[in-house]
Amino acid sequence: MTKRLNVGGVGLGGGAAVTIQSMCNTKTEDVAATVHQIHRLEEAGCEIVRVTVPTMEAAKAVSAIREQISIPLVADIHFDHRLAIEAAERGADKIRINPGNIGGEANVKAVAETCRRKNVPIRIGVNGGSLEKELLAKHGGVTAEALVESALGHVALLNRYDFDDICLSVKSSNVPVNMAAYRLLAERTDYPLHLGVTEAGTPSMGVIKSAMGIGGLLCLGIGDTLRVSLTADPVEEVYAAKKILKAAGLRKGVNLISCPTCGRTQYDMIPLVEELEKRLSDCDKDITVAVMGCVVNGPGEASAADVGIAGGKGEGLLFSKGKILRRMPEDQLLDALLEEIDRL
Ligand code: SF4
Repeated sequence: MTKRLNVGGVGLGGGAAVTIQSMCNTKTEDVAATVHQIHRLEEAGCEIVRVTVPTMEAAKAVSAIREQISIPLVADIHFDHRLAIEAAERGADKIRINPGNIGGEANVKAVAETCRRKNVPIRIGVNGGSLEKELLAKHGGVTAEALVESALGHVALLNRYDFDDICLSVKSSNVPVNMAAYRLLAERTDYPLHLGVTEAGTPSMGVIKSAMGIGGLLCLGIGDTLRVSLTADPVEEVYAAKKILKAAGLRKGVNLISCPTCGRTQYDMIPLVEELEKRLSDCDKDITVAVMGCVVNGPGEASAADVGIAGGKGEGLLFSKGKILRRMPEDQLLDALLEEIDRL
């Protein structure tokens, strides 16, 4: 079990539900645009949001943003400890910074002292693309060992100033390296882990890499919070994260199963399933719903489904747990299924 952190009232680690994070791509200095984007992310299901803090103006904007949103706010800082201190003073709920990169012991001490006084946890976020040169040379490139050694080096710096309110990430754009690094880290520490595959790309490939790299670890019981990184509207990251959590069995919601169709399929099943998926996207019932392509094999193959339909030529069946409930014309199948789901 990992250590439990408190990020602005949201539990992180120690058995708390795995949280969904995303990151704004607005200019943080533009408070109105950033708040607007965070509201969209909140509505989509984002539970912790991060903004970049590259300037003192952005650090000062943290308080105004924080006042207008209702989920915890994380300030992402590189190199400049003064920005971390300002963001923490201004109400950031967590800071992401790598203490080895902020210019020496005095700066680390100052950040640790401010964050301790303000009860602000720190995420150490190691990325394959920005590993220390010595570690790259020692390990012969971006390896799981190198990522973990870097993260633990940063941890030691904070621990020296008695700071232990830490979570860790060791992201790589290479999925197998990413997974190996997190597995190693989970063996070596009990700090909560923030999962992600960095620079995962556009949604078409990025979602697959994230489903493997993040979802695979979640299935092994590793990970306390996650961000899916996509080159897209960040709202897409939240939708992908929700699907990954659902597939890993960590979130409630409809489990929609549907057969791949084959030569036995005699109705227009693909658009029906797409429509059903849209209509069920906000349904949080913990049920399995099936859409099958033929009446011969469908009800039997989907016997585990709480409710389902199987189409034939011009007509189809509504079934539950493998038992046929009703037979009806094909154009009534979708409505009958939705009514049955409503009743559950
Ligand atoms: Fe083919 Fe029927 Fe199986 Fe679907 S359920 S793949 S239509 S045999």
